[in-house]
Amino acid sequence: MRPVHHCGVLLLVLAVTTGASAAAQSDSALERARKVLRSVPLIDGHNDLAWEIRNSKTAPRDVAAYDLRGRAPGHTDFERLKAGQVGAQFWSIYVPGEVKDSGYAKMQLEQFDIARRTIARYPDQLALALTAADIEREFKRGRIASLLGMEGGHVIENSLGALRSYYDLGARYLTLTHNVTLDWADAAADSARHGGLTEFGREVVREMNRMGMLVDLSHVSPGVMSDALDAAEAPVIFSHSSARALTDHWRNVPDSILKRLPENGGVVMVTFVSAFVSQEVDDWEKIANEESKKLETQVSDTVERRRLADDWLAAHPRPKATLAQVADHIDHVRKVAGADHVAIGSDFDGFEYPPVGLEDVSTFPQLFAELVRRGWSDEDLKKLAGRNLLRVLRTAESTATRLQRERQPSTRTIDQLDRPVVSVP
Ligand SMILES: [Zn+2]
Repeated sequence: MRPVHHCGVLLLVLAVTTGASAAAQSDSALERARKVLRSVPLIDGHNDLAWEIRNSKTAPRDVAAYDLRGRAPGHTDFERLKAGQVGAQFWSIYVPGEVKDSGYAKMQLEQFDIARRTIARYPDQLALALTAADIEREFKRGRIASLLGMEGGHVIENSLGALRSYYDLGARYLTLTHNVTLDWADAAADSARHGGLTEFGREVVREMNRMGMLVDLSHVSPGVMSDALDAAEAPVIFSHSSARALTDHWRNVPDSILKRLPENGGVVMVTFVSAFVSQEVDDWEKIANEESKKLETQVSDTVERRRLADDWLAAHPRPKATLAQVADHIDHVRKVAGADHVAIGSDFDGFEYPPVGLEDVSTFPQLFAELVRRGWSDEDLKKLAGRNLLRVLRTAESTATRLQRERQPSTRTIDQLDRPVVSVP
């Protein structure tokens, strides 16, 4: 507390009064948030639990050892999912695009195996969900509807047959790229080799629409976002991205794309990753990465390098993002794209250094309470929580039913579409 001067008594009284009324307001905001989340399933677009289990320090890939009934080491376990009122979760099936051993399929199948065994292990808590109807039914039953989303189009290895097989294993979205540019799509983090999607890339989008697998545009370049919106016959999603107008990070969605969502019907599921929601954190990380690269090239003594890195960190402490900044991004997407096109995609268990106030899966109601205090209506909060994503899934499902009447599974190959043999007359 700051020292009080002569009118300190009055100030103290004022402080107590304001404090008490703010607390009462915050309780009623939280109560309203909790009521909203009891009436509509909160659908989170991205959680990396399966990757966390794969890389467990004590028992890698061991679903039984990573006990979700107790306190798990990461961001996610049942007690905290319950406190967070999570109704449905897209569990990420992630394989790094940088890793190449015997192709991606082996690791991809192992990640399906981990996610599906996790879901099957707790039938009282989790249930595999493949449709919007599954989400609503499980929400009523009190189980967390568990959807699978694949992160990174490299995993299909340029094969529409592989894509269809992954759909049959339960995948309901595919992020077209992760951080590596593919033969058919540019990643935002990598070189723009194609200027967007190739013809085969557009065929991937069409085939996903035909099956009813959501096209996820997180991680792709703005060129791919634009081309996918042109090719899409169903609503797209961004499973975990925020607004580029507020934080100029390549993982975020530019306003020019947000403006196209009403016509497409898709949603941005706003993510919590600190560098994507706070410009200060983003700037700090860029400088910290440069510093780290500099030390690596200039100092070969690793102990000395560590000492210099520690000194640098002590002089430049990592800034923290906040819950309010995440709310700013949600507000921005609602303002530019509209209340029908915003949702939640936390990325818990996929990042370190969470924003203050959003430390793990238990904190979702606090975010909704913040939006209550900012004047959000219950109607808009319900859309944000789950109604928008349910609408997107339902539209994708009915589009798929229609497209399956119109066309057969595509047998086109990348060689046919992107490297056509030109016959010389
Ligand atoms: Zn990601």
